[in-house]
Amino acid sequence: MTPGPSSSGSTGAFSPNTDELLANNVAYVEQFSDHDLALAPRRHLAVVACMDSRMDIFQMLGLDHGDAHIIRNAGGVVTDDVVRSLVLSQRLLGTQEIVLIHHTDCGLQRVNEDEFKREIEAECGIKPWWAVESFRDPFEDVRQSIGRLHMSPFIVHKDHVRGFVYDVTDGRLHEVTR
Ligand SMILES: [Zn+2]
Repeated sequence: MTPGPSSSGSTGAFSPNTDELLANNVAYVEQFSDHDLALAPRRHLAVVACMDSRMDIFQMLGLDHGDAHIIRNAGGVVTDDVVRSLVLSQRLLGTQEIVLIHHTDCGLQRVNEDEFKREIEAECGIKPWWAVESFRDPFEDVRQSIGRLHMSPFIVHKDHVRGFVYDVTDGRLHEVTR
């Protein structure tokens, strides 16, 4: 995410993309070859990652369609909803390994949590009831996320949890040690 100083966050002229995306999909359908993929991920793997548009999770990890669940949000934060997805992933769809991916130059590093919430409250009249989950150090933030997974009573498989910071300048993953 790339938040601007105000809630508008706009950086120039905007025109909607959806019509072009639909045209792209017509071409995609013509060469579609994933008919036989199973519902459960082949590698029994779930990846939790930031939504940053510079990260193609499949590409950076050499994954194929059908290999893994990819759960994304702003920051790749382990929120209640991420836990919900992981619980379904593990209990119903057989995943046993979790890889966390945060990254350098994350939009959340530029957000002051209190100021941002005050700004939203001033504009909307309602203070957000959710945490923005801003942070300074992506390595520390990955440690925090690993800690949350280990603390959660709902996550069954915790033996294979590893966390990484992706460097957006060279594409390399740096493992976070506890
Ligand atoms: Zn990010």
